[in-house]
Amino acid sequence: MDMSRESQHVRGIHHVTAVAADAQRNVDFYVGVLGMRLVKRTVNQDAPETYHLFYADAVGNPGTDLTFFIWPNLAKGRPGNGQSVEVALAVPPGSLERWRERLVERRVAVGEIEERFGERVLTLTDPDGMALALVEAAPKSDVATWEGSLIPQEDQIRGFHSVRLLEAHAGPTVSLLREVFGFVELGSDGGFTRYGLPGGGASRVLDLRELPAGRGGALGTGSIHHVAWNLGEPQEQLAFQARLASYGLNPTQVIDRFWFKSVYFREPGGALFEAATAGPGFLVDESSGELGSRLILPPRFEPYRSEIEAILPPFKLPQAVTRR
Ligand code: ZN
Repeated sequence: MDMSRESQHVRGIHHVTAVAADAQRNVDFYVGVLGMRLVKRTVNQDAPETYHLFYADAVGNPGTDLTFFIWPNLAKGRPGNGQSVEVALAVPPGSLERWRERLVERRVAVGEIEERFGERVLTLTDPDGMALALVEAAPKSDVATWEGSLIPQEDQIRGFHSVRLLEAHAGPTVSLLREVFGFVELGSDGGFTRYGLPGGGASRVLDLRELPAGRGGALGTGSIHHVAWNLGEPQEQLAFQARLASYGLNPTQVIDRFWFKSVYFREPGGALFEAATAGPGFLVDESSGELGSRLILPPRFEPYRSEIEAILPPFKLPQAVTRR
């Protein structure tokens, strides 16, 4: 069966969700240090007594959105096989020296500028120990810089570049990536094999490493919880869900996340993936000026707003970005 035409429905990374222990520390880092915009302040839809925070470009375009479950009572995670273990964010060419200087000034754990697959990369870890990388890449056109950011417009993060995945046995995952997602192998470097979606470019890249003797990862704070892929329109998401099922995987039903619709599944190595619709997006319940400024609750939790607000620890946005 020729799946190459259908597979073009996977547009790239839609969002990545990770786990952090403390809301204020998370906001201070992603808004205050990396200059991303908090575009949605909400709760975990399965655990409404905990935050779900969304950081993105100015409006939360698909492919720019790094989100966190704030789970203060969870143990620290351990990166390993069957997990996504690093998120790479795209930054404009020529900006990494300035980024490194800023991060060192802010006492962020940061590496030296290095090269991966011919691209300049700066690795760092967030306050929960999650591995991040900034990669100089040609800017994606569908990213909106944010004038409220404390990072100058010309250096701002331009959405995702890629994710890194570790597997005990790469074969079944590679087959899925090729046959269902439409990824093609682009080469190997530093122990990782790079896969890209047709057309290429930032957010359309996944790096995979096979570590047959490695330990399995454990989910905790500082872990990547799941990687969501952009399937575009709802009918394309349904077609992809059917394709996953006929491939032998076990996708969930479509779950309405209000800003997009989600289908979850585990890839053969065990990492949690999501197939998300592109829209409707973060402007359905807040204007672009209001994004992230107040607690948004799913409608079924609205009757419990005062109880939920009493449980959630308050946090402040960094001073420099509270004026718009
Ligand atoms: Zn998700």
